[in-house]
This record gives sequence, structure tokens and C-alpha cells, in this order.
Amino acid sequence: MSIKQDAACIFCKIIKGEIPSFKLIETAHAFSFLDIQPTSEGHALIIPKYHGGKLHSVPDEFLADVLPIAKKLAKALELDTDGIDSPVGYNLLQNNGKIAHQVVDHVHFHLIPKRDEKTGLI
Ligand code: 5GP
Ligand code: ZN
Repeated sequence: MSIKQDAACIFCKIIKGEIPSFKLIETAHAFSFLDIQPTSEGHALIIPKYHGGKLHSVPDEFLADVLPIAKKLAKALELDTDGIDSPVGYNLLQNNGKIAHQVVDHVHFHLIPKRDEKTGLI
């Protein structure tokens, strides 16, 4: 399946470099960059290089790179600790539809670092 884009989509424009972004990891099928309004330091977005509004409309090959990128970013952000009681963790979130708080109509996964401020780990 080939890359599908929407000329009016801000995330398609980011993939093409028409809108600047702080790029993190790019593969043949996916792209990641920092969120412009971060919930926490290092808040990243991971998007398939296929313009689909909701998860079920994106071919599997474009989704296949998403979790490996999330794992690499979690490691780069030093969030990859084991143990449920670790002072660092992260949320991997993906919203589908306005009713589920989706704003940008191009599938994206949020990787949101969670750090315990009391430990001094940032
Ligand atoms: P949603 O609510 O659709 O799941 O999240 C959309 C996310 O995209 C928001 O966190 C928002 O800050 C981010 N966002 C929207 N426009 C831009 C942009 O032009 N550049 C970047 N880097 N992030 C964006
Ligand atoms: Zn798009």
C-alpha cells in the first residue's frame, strides 16, 4: 500500500516538511515529533505516513512502526524503567473522534512522559 496524504492536513504537511516540527524518529511508514502544546516535557506524537482519521482506517503496515518508535522514544527519554512503582512512566494515548477528544483528523499516538516531581527526576 502506498502513502496516502491530504494536502490540507496539518500532520501531512508536517511529514512533508511544509510545517516545521521538532522531528524525533522517522521510518518509511511513520514519523514522530514533539507536541506543540506538551502535557509534560518530551510529549511526543507518533503518526503513520498515511492520512486516515481513525485507527481502523489506517493499513496495518503503517501502524507496524508505531510501537517500535514508542519504545525507542521511551528509552531515549529515560522512561524505560521496569517495575510498576518506578518514579517514571508514560502514557501512550490515541483518540478517535471528537467525542473521544480527537482534534487533529490524522491518526496520532501521544507518548506522554510521567515523572514524579518529588524525586527530582525530570
Ligand atoms: P488530539 O486531541 O487530536 O488527540 O491531539 C492533537 C495534538 O496535536 C495536540 O496535543 C496538539 O497540541 C498537537 N498539535 C496540533 N497542531 C500541531 C502542530 O502544528 N504541531 C505540533 N507539533 N503539534 C500539534
Ligand atoms: Zn494527514
